[in-house]
Amino acid sequence: CGIIAGVSYRNILRVLLSGLKKLEYRGYDSCGVATLTNSKLTRYRTVSRVEVLEQEIFNHPELPGTIGIAHTRWATHGAPEIRNTHPHLSHNAIAIVHNGIIENFEEIKHQLLQKGYVFESDTDTEVIVHLIHSFYKGNLFVAFSQAMLLLKGAYAVAIMTKDEPQKIMAARFGAPLVLGIGKNENFVASDPVALSGVTEKFVYLENGDLAELSPDSYQVFQRNEFVFVPVNRPVTKIT
Ligand code: GLU
Repeated sequence: CGIIAGVSYRNILRVLLSGLKKLEYRGYDSCGVATLTNSKLTRYRTVSRVEVLEQEIFNHPELPGTIGIAHTRWATHGAPEIRNTHPHLSHNAIAIVHNGIIENFEEIKHQLLQKGYVFESDTDTEVIVHLIHSFYKGNLFVAFSQAMLLLKGAYAVAIMTKDEPQKIMAARFGAPLVLGIGKNENFVASDPVALSGVTEKFVYLENGDLAELSPDSYQVFQRNEFVFVPVNRPVTKIT
């Protein structure tokens, strides 16, 4: 399973898809990608190889994508079917990709169901995106932080929202995630290999870290009790 996501001024859809291919070695049963353009989320998913996803996408010429999140899934909760394939959405506003397992997802799901949230999948992942939505009051960093504090288990996640269309947020605990630092674009991936040929500058996230990326900047946050505080992590050069 794997994640690659990025935010740029150019169309990075091909970068995301070729990154997914480079993550195929990690194993997967389905894959998908979501992009954000002019405040509209577009999603493609398939219970097949990345090549099939690619063919489907490039049958739609000029499909935009300056911001996007992409995923190869190794199902743990919910069968490998389209409706369980990532990215998962909440209210067509927030999109998420996730690797790992949320151990307390049933408890959170129960609370979200009582609040009226409707679930489209059997995954543990979908609770995260609705939880973020339930906290969202115009600031993705705040909503994301609040949600991450409630999760138990292992995760690498990347999210974006149509309401803040120049931003990717990511977090990890017990699953790998690295930032790829580019020029006028920044990425996040499960493994630097996904970004070979795109950038040589990487920033490894530590367990519990959260990161915010825009085309021109990035910031890592470290968990300190119940808040996330800015932290500098070293930049590693990998050629
Ligand atoms: N637990 C999630 C699911 O089953 C993520 C699996 C993965 O790591 O790809 O959808």
